[in-house]
Amino acid sequence: MNKARNFWGWGNIEDISNPNEVDLLRSLVTNTFSVEGSLMPYPNIDDIVLPENSLKIPNALESISTDSKYERALHTRGRSFIDVTRSLSGDFASAPDFVIYPENENDILFAMDWCAERNCALVPFGGGSSVVGGLELKLGERERFEGVVSLDLGKMNSMLELDKTSRTGQFQGGMLGPKIEDDLRRNGLTLRHFPQSFEFSSLGGWIATRAGGHFATGITHIDDLVESIQVVSPIGIYETRSLPASGAGPDPNRLFMGSEGSLGVITSAWMRLQDRPIYKVSYSALFDSFKSGVDAARELVQSGLAPSNCRLLDPLEAFINGAGNGAKAVLIVGFESGDHSVEHLERRSIEIVKQNGGEISGKKEGETWKSSFIRAPYIRDTLIRLGVIAETFETAVKWNKFDEFHNAIIDNVTKGIEKVAEGKGLVTCRLTHLYPDGSAPYFTVLAKARPGSEISQWMEIKELASQTILDNGGTITHHHAVGRDHQKWYKSEIPEHIYKGFEALKHHFDPHGILNPGAVINL
Ligand SMILES: Cc1cc2nc3c(=O)[nH]c(=O)nc-3n(C[C@H](O)[C@H](O)[C@H](O)COP(=O)(O)OP(=O)(O)OC[C@H]3O[C@@H](n4cnc5c(N)ncnc54)[C@H](O)[C@@H]3O)c2cc1C
Repeated sequence: MNKARNFWGWGNIEDISNPNEVDLLRSLVTNTFSVEGSLMPYPNIDDIVLPENSLKIPNALESISTDSKYERALHTRGRSFIDVTRSLSGDFASAPDFVIYPENENDILFAMDWCAERNCALVPFGGGSSVVGGLELKLGERERFEGVVSLDLGKMNSMLELDKTSRTGQFQGGMLGPKIEDDLRRNGLTLRHFPQSFEFSSLGGWIATRAGGHFATGITHIDDLVESIQVVSPIGIYETRSLPASGAGPDPNRLFMGSEGSLGVITSAWMRLQDRPIYKVSYSALFDSFKSGVDAARELVQSGLAPSNCRLLDPLEAFINGAGNGAKAVLIVGFESGDHSVEHLERRSIEIVKQNGGEISGKKEGETWKSSFIRAPYIRDTLIRLGVIAETFETAVKWNKFDEFHNAIIDNVTKGIEKVAEGKGLVTCRLTHLYPDGSAPYFTVLAKARPGSEISQWMEIKELASQTILDNGGTITHHHAVGRDHQKWYKSEIPEHIYKGFEALKHHFDPHGILNPGAVINL
C-alpha cells in the first residue's frame, strides 16, 4: 500500500503517533513540563484555506503541473518546529500557486524561462525536509513577484548509470534516500549517506544543502561523495567533469554545493560509492561525566582507528531516548568494512575508552538509540501537538574551545528556557559528528509552550543559542544549511568580500533573481 505524505508534518500520515505512543508521551510531558497535555487535532485538507492562485498553469506545462489543494499545501514549506507549528495552526497563506513535476532538464529550462518572463519565483523542492526556511519565501520577498511556483524533482528519480570499475554511479537529483539504496543494494554497493531525514530527502536536496549523514566519523558531508553534477540554471544546462580529483582552480562542483536552489537545479550527480559492509562490530560505553566521554571521543577520532560510528550522548539525551538512566553519558562506537574484519580496531578502541574512564556495556544502548532516532521526527510532531516546544540546533567547533563552548550554550539556553517557559524545559547535547580537529555538537530543546506564543518563545531561545554559538567560535550550522533562518548569522561568519562574490554569482546564474529568492544569499 502506498502511504500518503503528511502535508502538515513529518513523513507519512499513516505513521504519526498511534494512541499508545500519544499516551506515553503525554504522561512524560505533563509531569516534566507541566503542560496540560491535550492533543491538538491536526488539520484536514478539506478545512484548509489556501490563497487564490495568482497564476494559472500555462498550457505548455499542464501535463506536468498541478494546483491541487493537497499538493499546494504539501509544498508550502519545510519541516522545522516553526513550520509544523504554523501548518498545524492552518496557516498556508504562503502556498505556491502551483507545483511542476519536471521529467527532464528541458522541462526545467522551460519553467525557468516562463517564470522569468512573468516575474515568478521558482523554488526547487526535493524531499521537502528543510529545517531552515529553505522552501518558503518570507513575507516581503513574496510581494516582489507575480506568484510562486514549486519545482518538485520527484519524477526525476532514476539511477542513470553505474560504473562498477570506478565504483561510481550517476543518479537523478529527485531520488529519495531509500530508492538510491534499493538500486545500489542489488549491486552490492551503497552510497552510505544516511541523514536522519533519509526517507524523505533527496540527492539534489542533500547536495544543495551540504547534508551530513549519520556515520559520525570519516566522510560525513555529502560534498566528499560528489564526483560531478549536472545543473540547470536560467542561463543554461551544464555538467562538471567526472574525475577522481582535480587541482584545476576553484572547484566548480563546490559553487553549487550549499547553494540551496538559489543558483540552479541539481538534476543529476555522479556519486562515489562503497562496497556494502559485511564485517560489523559495535558497543556502548558509559561515562560518569559528559566531559570524560568527550575526552574519549576526541582520542578515538584522533587515533586513526576511524570508527564508522562514534556518537556521544549526554546523560539527559541518553535518558530521553531510552538509552540510559540519566546519570551517565553514553558513547556508541562501531566499526565496519566490506573487505576485512574489524575486531582488532574495536579492541584498541576499547583500550582508549577504558583509559578515559568508560565502562563497556554491550550493544543495548546503541540499538535503543537507533530505533528512537528513526522514530524521533514523528515523536517531535506529537510533542508539538501536546503543547511542547521541540526543536534542535547544531553546530561545529574546534576541540580546544569545546568545553567552554558547551558550557556557554547549556547555560544560556537554560536561562532562555527560564525566561520564556518558566524554567519548564530542558536542553540536551550529543556529538553527532567527530573530526580530528573538532566535533559537531547537536542540541535538543524541549520546553513548555504557551498556546499561540510557541514560535516567539522558540525564536527567543534560538536567537540566544545562535549568538552564543557565534560568540564562542562555532558555526551557525554544521549540516542543517542556511536557508532563510540562518542567513544573518551566515553573513556574519564569512568575509564581506567573499559574500559579495557570492552575490555576483547569483546575478550571473540567475539574472532575473527568480530562483528561490531570499535563500542563502539575500539580494
Ligand atoms: C526530521 C529531520 C531530520 C533531519 N536530519 C538531517 C540530518 O541528519 N542531516 C542533514 O544534513 N540534514 C537533516 N535534516 C535537514 C534536511 O533533511 C536536509 O537539509 C536535506 O538535505 C534536505 O533535502 P531535501 O531533499 O528534503 O531538500 P528540500 O527540503 O526539498 O530543499 C532544501 C533546499 O534545497 C533546495 N533544493 C532541493 N532540491 C534541489 C535540487 N535538486 N537542486 C537545487 N536545489 C535544491 C531547495 O530549494 C531548498 O532550498 C533533517 C530534517 C528533518 C525535518
